[in-house]
Amino acid sequence: MNVTLVHSAVQPHVPMSIAAAEPVLRVRNLEVTYYTDSGRAKALDNVSFSLKAGEKLGMVGESGSGKSTLALAMMRMIKPPGRIEGGQVLVGDTDLMALDQEGMRKARLSRIAYIPQGAMNSLNPVMRIGAQMIDAVRSHLPDEPKPAVEARCKRALQSVDLDAGVFRMYAHELSGGMKQRVCIAIGILLDPDVIIADEPTSALDVVTQRQVMETIDNVQKAINAAVILIGHDMGLMAQFVDRVAVMYAGRLVEMSSVREMFTDPKHPYSRALIRSLPSLDNKGVFQGIPGLAPSLLRLPTGCAFHPRCDSAMPECSTARPEAQILPGGRSVTCHLFDGEA
Ligand code: SF4
Repeated sequence: MNVTLVHSAVQPHVPMSIAAAEPVLRVRNLEVTYYTDSGRAKALDNVSFSLKAGEKLGMVGESGSGKSTLALAMMRMIKPPGRIEGGQVLVGDTDLMALDQEGMRKARLSRIAYIPQGAMNSLNPVMRIGAQMIDAVRSHLPDEPKPAVEARCKRALQSVDLDAGVFRMYAHELSGGMKQRVCIAIGILLDPDVIIADEPTSALDVVTQRQVMETIDNVQKAINAAVILIGHDMGLMAQFVDRVAVMYAGRLVEMSSVREMFTDPKHPYSRALIRSLPSLDNKGVFQGIPGLAPSLLRLPTGCAFHPRCDSAMPECSTARPEAQILPGGRSVTCHLFDGEA
């Protein structure tokens, strides 16, 4: 696991009281398979979870665990040889998987926004920031008068702590952190219900990482969106998210509140991740996770984690564990908890 945490005093973010509202996002049994020359790779295996408005979920896992595939599948941006094989992504009552192409185009940005990995490098270098933002708004609101569109774009820039003057600038005039904030501003132009940010702080220095996370936090509070943060840095996440989901080999293996995840992780893989984090108490003592993440083309039988698991039992190599919802609502996919649901 490429955990990049180096914050010595990780203080888990205390979950805000999320109103006892209905979930704004429900992902049900989402499945994605890549059909490659070397065989079939199930990149997303029956993934289900839900999020309420205003809730922030941190999605962690090794490279290839399915985090980015999940984001792309939710946006219906999986490209061949990948294929969404089943499942639902409900934003409110709208199943994104059931929309036609035009319906999905409209839903992107207005219902669900995606800030992809390396988004800041995808800004057009020969267009002013404002022109790129106007394009994004115009594709959804073609009849909105120009002054109103411009005002909307400048408001979005100001809400991510950028000067409205950035509207007239080019990408090369901005720092990495400013470019990432522009991408966040574009993501919130139409007040989406759900925002997915894939590694929003990668390639930024630690000070800027924190500023970008604070920007996402402020923006999320302002529009009360549900936010999914994908990343490796569990320490940074601990300070900003309400719940943490751990993925392994295309499956969601644990989903808990951030406090439970850091104080009492249940799944052996989550436990190993937490143990591998440096802290003030175990300064200089790093416990890695033995072995490597498996290839999706050749997954171990039974529980895919069993060759690396320090709690493996005989049945783990033959029987596939199913997700259990434990008392209190956390979910864990491991035979150790069979019967505790
Ligand atoms: Fe370990 Fe077995 Fe649980 Fe898999 S099912 S994580 S091998 S104890």
